[in-house]
Amino acid sequence: MSFNENSEIPKEYLGNMRSSDGCISNESRAMAIAMANALMSKDPSTQVGACFVNSEGKIVSCGYNSPPNGWADEDFTWDKPDEEEYNKYTYIVHAEMNAIFNYGGSIKDFRNSTLYVTFLPCPHCAKHMVQAGVKDVVYLAENNSNIPAKLSTAISKFILKKCNINYRKYDYEKDDNLKSIIFKMNSENEKDFSSIEKCKKYIKKK
Ligand SMILES: [Zn+2]
Repeated sequence: MSFNENSEIPKEYLGNMRSSDGCISNESRAMAIAMANALMSKDPSTQVGACFVNSEGKIVSCGYNSPPNGWADEDFTWDKPDEEEYNKYTYIVHAEMNAIFNYGGSIKDFRNSTLYVTFLPCPHCAKHMVQAGVKDVVYLAENNSNIPAKLSTAISKFILKKCNINYRKYDYEKDDNLKSIIFKMNSENEKDFSSIEKCKKYIKKK
């Protein structure tokens, strides 16, 4: 947490989060929004966020992985047992699909858009991104933790390549602004801002 020189209040709350590099780029903003959306997911093991940006650089829609609309998070099965009917993968709606289906406008608004997403889309989402007319996919990470995950990653890339969608891994290490946003998000997450009394605990004393 950083503070303005003459203030006891964290500088974030004075409306100026600007780093020494100036304003953040549109790309940093889109990926930061995708990450903030990931934090909305109640999935205990994998939180994924997505943000679509149109060809004019405007944000179209965002989403995160969740149960289908109307199915309360607390009633959802978040486990992964062998029985398909009790496995979360049978029911969960992925971040990219939520961003499209929960959007109030036209599907045309996704044509030629760029998807910023915290994980490389799975093969099902990859083919649906093709159908929505997405032009570019920029992802923060890919899952290569085991053989099925590696195969899924390879299939997603195969689909995107076959259908002429550009994809690239976001160069997170080079983006100091995004790193600083992530740092701020992480440090905020460890703190409890749920009441005035609790907020006051974090205000620096002179
Ligand atoms: Zn998916």
